[in-house]
Amino acid sequence: MSHIFPRHCKSNLPVATRGEGIYLIDSEGKRYLDGSGGAAVSCLGHSDPDVAQAMHDQIDKLSFAHTGFLTSEPAESLADRLVAHAPEGIERVYLVSGGSEAVEAALKLARQYMIETGQEQRTRFIARKQSYHGNTLGALGTGGNMWRRAPFDPLMMSASHIDPCYEYRLRHDGETEEEYGLRSANALEDEILRLGPETVVGFLAEPVVGATAGAVPAVKGYLKRIREICDKYEILLILDEVMCGMGRTGTLFACEQDDVSPDIITIAKGLGAGYQPIGAMLCTDTIYDAIAQGSGFFQHGHTYIGHPVASAAADAVVRKLTEGGMTARAAKMGDRLNDALQAEFGQHPHIGDIRGRGMFRGLEIVADRDSKAPFDPARGVAGRLKKQAFENGLICYPMSGTIDGQLGDHVLLAPPFIITDDQIDELVGKLSKSLEQVL
Ligand code: PLP
Repeated sequence: MSHIFPRHCKSNLPVATRGEGIYLIDSEGKRYLDGSGGAAVSCLGHSDPDVAQAMHDQIDKLSFAHTGFLTSEPAESLADRLVAHAPEGIERVYLVSGGSEAVEAALKLARQYMIETGQEQRTRFIARKQSYHGNTLGALGTGGNMWRRAPFDPLMMSASHIDPCYEYRLRHDGETEEEYGLRSANALEDEILRLGPETVVGFLAEPVVGATAGAVPAVKGYLKRIREICDKYEILLILDEVMCGMGRTGTLFACEQDDVSPDIITIAKGLGAGYQPIGAMLCTDTIYDAIAQGSGFFQHGHTYIGHPVASAAADAVVRKLTEGGMTARAAKMGDRLNDALQAEFGQHPHIGDIRGRGMFRGLEIVADRDSKAPFDPARGVAGRLKKQAFENGLICYPMSGTIDGQLGDHVLLAPPFIITDDQIDELVGKLSKSLEQVL
């Protein structure tokens, strides 16, 4: 029995000893196809020589310098590279060690911006039901996943939550995609007016929802309307691309496909691709300048901000995603993955929805395809699927999500972008077999 303290206190997990392309291998020699990149992390697979080389080269030169005193070449290079490819207006980068840290930094930066611009009365954040933005108290406090929040509720700041943009469950019969997008986005305006516009700091959302609902993209026009509403009431739009960013949806930033530029973006996961723990918060010059020309100091920080080796790894990752063509590959192979999922599950009596973008795909598992009724939670379909797939040598990411207590089982697929046609067939075949065994 291992003495480390992973998620499950009673766990007796197999020991991973090697990574080879899209496969992980345990100490018994069993191979697992990493169909979810862990949790949408391993975009380049597990044995990328260029990222490993960049880390070796960096550690030979400089392992650490505290950013209270010095910056470093890889941190500067990474920031330049991210800004060069970021949505319009995004000019500044704050490097942290993961997704929750990036979201915490975003919340604090947004609040500090309001103070520096004389709007101290703005203290509230709005997010969406069913959302997950990290496990630290600020990020959890804005998140809308009630199960994750419950034990810690008394410790957290309260955000308000509007419905997510969730076409499969919330679009009315007879409503077009555009009409639904508008109606769904207008819920933000209603909530701003209910709270009082002068009290709101910002709105936080994922362009494509990952960890709580299995790759649910916003419908056409939704984010554009959200941007208009934020501008109208002068509140900040914070897009959380920790899971869906860094090429995962077929463009480096997911919001590029919605033609929307936020005020703040958070990224992590695919940024380090699993080679190093790293995340980042990016923001506009408007926000940066307000602080630079005001107090002159962002009142936040962590010891490992801009870590040189993590930055060198991420710089190599982003180089591969952009100049190396890996984001374009995610778009191409993502279409191929979608075709394979449609062929296998398009008529499946227990798959209600197949959705997503690029290498970020989700299936919604239902008891009845026509009524969309979910399975009884007592059957534990998502949890059993995770276990069965793992038995069969497939790592995928099943989950149960809720909106207002409505249960549903989903599975998220986010394989490495290097996956081949044959490996996609292997992934879909293993998933199909596992689902049959569970149902
Ligand atoms: N934001 C989103 C959208 C996420 O999916 C996650 C993690 O799953 C986080 C934030 C938190 O990231 P981390 O687990 O790196 O702290």
